[in-house]
Amino acid sequence: MRDKLIEYFQILAAIDSPSGKERELADKLAVVLRGLGFSLRRDSLGSIIAARGQGEPLLLCCHMDTVESTAGLELKIEGDYIRSDGSTILGADDKAGIAIILATLENMDCQPALELVFSVQEEKGMEGTKAFKPGDLRAKWGLVLDAGEPVGAVINQAPGETEMEIVIHGRGAHAAANPEEGIDAIRLAASFIDRLPPHRIEEGSTYNLGVIQGGKATNTICPRVQMLGEVRSFEDSQRVRIAAELESLLQHALEGSGGSYDFHCRDSYSGYLVNADHGLIDLLKSTAAPLGIQVDVHSRFAGSDANILNGLGLAVVNLGLGVEGNHSFDERVSISAMGKMAAWLHTILKEWCHERA
Ligand SMILES: [Zn+2]
Repeated sequence: MRDKLIEYFQILAAIDSPSGKERELADKLAVVLRGLGFSLRRDSLGSIIAARGQGEPLLLCCHMDTVESTAGLELKIEGDYIRSDGSTILGADDKAGIAIILATLENMDCQPALELVFSVQEEKGMEGTKAFKPGDLRAKWGLVLDAGEPVGAVINQAPGETEMEIVIHGRGAHAAANPEEGIDAIRLAASFIDRLPPHRIEEGSTYNLGVIQGGKATNTICPRVQMLGEVRSFEDSQRVRIAAELESLLQHALEGSGGSYDFHCRDSYSGYLVNADHGLIDLLKSTAAPLGIQVDVHSRFAGSDANILNGLGLAVVNLGLGVEGNHSFDERVSISAMGKMAAWLHTILKEWCHERA
C-alpha cells in the first residue's frame, strides 16, 4: 500500500493545479476513475462527480486545486515524510486525500456504492462545490478528506462565514489650499477602527477587517476608504447580529462628521454540525477501533467543502490526513499517516459493502 500511495501521490503532484487551472489534473483523474469502473460527469466549473455501484452511495470528496502553483515542484522523500525542496508548496492539501482514495479503491475486493466529488476552487472559498445544486448528489452521508490534522481527527462542526464590504465616503479637497472643505475619510475610518471590539468577539465567533484601501495623493484630503472583512460563527444567526453591531459602531463613529457609508454583507456559506451521536460518527468510530485509530470528534474554526455539502442536505464530516504545514513551503505529509488513513478508509468501505449492499 505504501508504494501505491507514493506512486499516486507522485502522479498527482507532477501536475500543477492552482485554483481555476485544475483541468489537466481532472483529465488525468478521469482516466484513472474510468479504469476503476466509475461513470463520471464534469460540471460547468470543472468539478468531477463520479459514481459506481448500486444502492445508497457514500460520498468521498477532495479538492483538486492547490492554494498556489506548484510549478517546478521537486519531491523529496525524507524518512516517513514527503516534502518539496522548500521552494514551492507540496500540494498535499489536498492531493494526499486524492491519492488515499485512489490507492484504497484499487485495493478493494468488494464494490461499495460510491459517489466521488473532486472539486475545483476550494481554496477560493469553496467556489467549486458552491456551484452544486440540491439533487446533484445522491449520497446522504459523506467524508471530506481535507483536514490538516492527524489521522483520527473528525471535524463535525465548522463555522459559517459572512463577507463584509464597508465604504466610508468623506469629501475630497486640496490639502493645502482648502482643507477645511474636506471630510477626511481616513480619519473617519480611524475613528471607527478605534471602537472595534476584539477579533474573537465572543465564544464561537470571530470577525476581521483584513483589507483597507483609500487615498490617491498626499495633497488631497481622502474622500473614500474601502474596507473588506469577514465574520465567522458556528451559529448562522450570530453572524447577522455581529455584522449589525459593527454597522452600528460605524454609524456612531460617523455621527456629526458629514461623512456617510455603505455597508454590504454577503452570506458566503453556512456553518454545520453533525451531531456526535449521528450514524456517520458511529460508523467512523466502529471502523477505527479495530485499527487502533483514536477517533477525535471536534469542531474546527475553518471552512471546507464539508460546509457546502452539509448545506446541500448531506451529513458530511472532514477527516484529518496527516498533512502538516498546509499553505507553506514547509508543507509535508507523513507516508505512514496516509497508510493509516487508507487502511481506515478501506475498513469503512468494506463496512459500507456489507451494510448498504
Ligand atoms: Zn484543503
